[in-house]
Amino acid sequence: MAVVGGSVIGLACAWSIARTHLAREVVVYEPDDSGPDGVPASAAAWVAGGMLAPFSEAWPGEEAVFALGVDSLRRWPEFLRALEPYVPPGPPVRTATHTHMLAVDEADARDLDMAINWAARQPDPTRDAVGPGSGSHPGATTAITGADLRRVTRRELREAEPSLARVARAVYRMDSEGAVDNRVLLAALTRACRAEGVTWERNAVTSLDDVDADRVVLAAGAGSAELAGLPVRPVKGEVLRLRARPGCEDPPRGVVRAFVRGRPVYLVPREGGLVVGATQYEHGDDRQVTVAGVRDLLADAETIFPGVGEYELTEAIAGLRPMSPDNLPFLGVDATDPRLIHATGHGRNGIALTPVTVAAVWAELHSVPVPAAARAAAPDRFSRG
Ligand SMILES: Cc1cc2nc3c(=O)[nH]c(=O)nc-3n(C[C@H](O)[C@H](O)[C@H](O)COP(=O)(O)OP(=O)(O)OC[C@H]3O[C@@H](n4cnc5c(N)ncnc54)[C@H](O)[C@@H]3O)c2cc1C
Repeated sequence: MAVVGGSVIGLACAWSIARTHLAREVVVYEPDDSGPDGVPASAAAWVAGGMLAPFSEAWPGEEAVFALGVDSLRRWPEFLRALEPYVPPGPPVRTATHTHMLAVDEADARDLDMAINWAARQPDPTRDAVGPGSGSHPGATTAITGADLRRVTRRELREAEPSLARVARAVYRMDSEGAVDNRVLLAALTRACRAEGVTWERNAVTSLDDVDADRVVLAAGAGSAELAGLPVRPVKGEVLRLRARPGCEDPPRGVVRAFVRGRPVYLVPREGGLVVGATQYEHGDDRQVTVAGVRDLLADAETIFPGVGEYELTEAIAGLRPMSPDNLPFLGVDATDPRLIHATGHGRNGIALTPVTVAAVWAELHSVPVPAAARAAAPDRFSRG
């Protein structure tokens, strides 16, 4: 069994395949081992904010994207429990367990109200879920109730996040979203793979025909288009990493997402600091950090968290989100090549969608139906007549 791409999706799939003894040998093809523990530091998953955010990313018209995100969010607690033995000493994987969403001006408040009301009306996407959903497999789920999502007053926001400026016109809180530390996650997945006997080939695949394996999982992020002709395009995003200095305001306790004059910005707590993200541009394969990107992120972050100016700016980095035309990934067996399973095109949400992707790949390998929410992500949906 081969997995092409050894970032968050590839490693999580390789680990799941190896630990459930689906294959005698699991080989990950990944050319980049430049990060700590040999993780790929050029991958989007190294750059990402690590938010698990189907509710705060919800947008009318994206029913299938929302359903897939909620399904995956339910799988995270069990996924993390299984990964726990492999988390390296130091910060935990889970860094926040709730999100505040806020809007600063009237127009943004109207958009936020509309999106949240839409999300709150969506049916439970996992009601008729089939495939791995219980027991020892990482696909097990836990309930998220409607009560997890609610409007809060400005006073409640002040009590929960005292370091934020008093600029919000509309505020919602989502319990059970939050964030993971994507870099700790990559390290833990690498260790978990090693413990299960997964091996690495340190070269880039130029043609899937050259991969000597009976089944191939394609998890090459923005590199997947070239390999399989999928409509996956790179969408650049910049983030900043900040470290708290003595005497600084404490970072927010949970994730804070805001619209500031129409621009989205988020603050994600990390051990000893925070991540500020993220810009979004259709610039093709461009990973350079721009002055304008840094300026806008800092200006918007300071509007909602004035203490940010006292932090140390430790890193400004850009990565490529592997976006599909409808913001759904490609999950499932290729329509013309039964050897090939797609697990790619996760766009802005690949960290969040990792557990449901693992469940979908696992189901394909067992020839059982994929989770219901993953059916809309069939790889041939754009080529069907
Ligand atoms: C700025 C930014 C912020 C983000 N924030 C979030 C967030 O808060 N929450 C969230 O859920 N998601 C977020 N994302 C999105 C998330 O990072 C991606 O969706 C996710 O990383 C996709 O995972 P992947 O493993 O498919 O691809 P990647 O992480 O991009 O990894 C692809 C891997 O494939 C390898 N590869 C490519 N071509 C080949 C080849 N030919 N042969 C072998 N290997 C190959 C690459 O070296 C790379 O390691 C963010 C992304 C960016 C850029």
